[in-house]
Amino acid sequence: MNLFMPKQAFFEKDTLAYPLGQKLHQTMTANNIPIKILGPGNRIGNYFGNTSFEKYIEAKKSLVVGVRKNLKLTTCKPSADWEFPLASSCPGGCQYCYLQTHLGKRPFVKVYVNIDEILNKIKTIADENVPQITSFEAASTSDPLASEHLTGSLAQTITFFGTLTHGRMRVVSKFNNIDSLLNLPHNQHTRFRFSLNTPKIIKELEYNTPQLPARIKAASQMAQAGYPLGFIIAPLFIYSDYQTDYRQLFETLAQTLEPIPADLTFELITHRFTKAAKNVILERFPDTPLELDETKRGRKYGKYGLVKYIYPKEEYQELRETISSLVSTFFPQATISYFT
Ligand code: SF4
Repeated sequence: MNLFMPKQAFFEKDTLAYPLGQKLHQTMTANNIPIKILGPGNRIGNYFGNTSFEKYIEAKKSLVVGVRKNLKLTTCKPSADWEFPLASSCPGGCQYCYLQTHLGKRPFVKVYVNIDEILNKIKTIADENVPQITSFEAASTSDPLASEHLTGSLAQTITFFGTLTHGRMRVVSKFNNIDSLLNLPHNQHTRFRFSLNTPKIIKELEYNTPQLPARIKAASQMAQAGYPLGFIIAPLFIYSDYQTDYRQLFETLAQTLEPIPADLTFELITHRFTKAAKNVILERFPDTPLELDETKRGRKYGKYGLVKYIYPKEEYQELRETISSLVSTFFPQATISYFT
């Protein structure tokens, strides 16, 4: 699929003082992308269409270049000790994406230019925790690979982690433009995971993302380049033929992944939603095939008492047994890091 090139770009004024801000400005200019320099307060205003769907689609075609002001990191369980942002949102349009609600009316693709400041903060945290190894998740607010051809931030960050004795990075992506990452001195300090799902789910719910074979090919190339590798199968959905489809997914993966690393990991996440997410999704995608019926779900209480609607106990258990058994059948040497 084509690499992301925005339809319009917004620059916070301060970003032009940073080399990455200048580089992005030059790239946008060279590609004749309309540019707006934001005024005080960095308000973007009503640039994004009329209906909720139009606003969402237009915003996803827009790039915002910003300076990350809040450098305080937050925890990121069960994936890592901490999470940090290189970007927020991505050009993909996955209907179930938790960023639909997390980013609310700001689903535009935003990249940060003060990468050195963000990396300094990471080094401080990792150094303070020596002799423990500290892990950092780079993809909890975005898919950073989706904008990598414009920024190069992920390559810089992988190289940086390669030099850290007690810091490790974790990245997850659905994208496949990994060529610029293959020859970096990563020192095996970055675990790259690819997010996979059945072809039916990719077709129906993961708009504007690469297809399954492209993701598996990228995963093989990253494993050949010596990166520790993993897969996130998420969200896991229950539907009429789900057992057949997930079996087929694992079969395809086992037949085409080359090599299969000895320390391969799987992270398995079942579908869940909140009331707020349901409202946003139905407003943006009124005809969504996503099943969002609270009466068919159990409840789980998240942070601040927030209710998440998860699969009921018996269905959850059956899903867990199905997927865990597929992992042990097709990848007996792999580890399931967590199932949630
Ligand atoms: S690729 Fe990831 S970050 Fe982007 S929309 Fe899909 S789930 Fe969200």
